[in-house]
Amino acid sequence: MHEYAVTQSMVKMVVDEANKANAAKISEIRLVIGDLSTIIDDSVQMYFDIISEGTIAQGAKLIFKRVKAEFRCKSCGEVFIKPPVGFDCPKCGGLGTPTGVGKEFYIESIEIE
Ligand SMILES: [Zn+2]
Repeated sequence: MHEYAVTQSMVKMVVDEANKANAAKISEIRLVIGDLSTIIDDSVQMYFDIISEGTIAQGAKLIFKRVKAEFRCKSCGEVFIKPPVGFDCPKCGGLGTPTGVGKEFYIESIEIE
């Protein structure tokens, strides 16, 4: 599973960060996930519970912030949020292409104790 590897590196990163700060525990991890990244919150949460066991990240609260996918119309240049179905421009009906917004997956911040 895709999320397993992603979660594994995420846990490693936050534990490294917390260790650098001499933290005893990580209480909260804020993640930013783009709608196009195909990462599912529930899967990350599930793997996190397994992977973080025995680390200082164990029991940390995961907060997911979803970023909507942004598209730009090839015909008129309009930038729009991807509609639930298709990629059509709401202004002229032209074909939209991804702007790159919505593909992100990163750790926004962590809360340590
Ligand atoms: Zn358009």
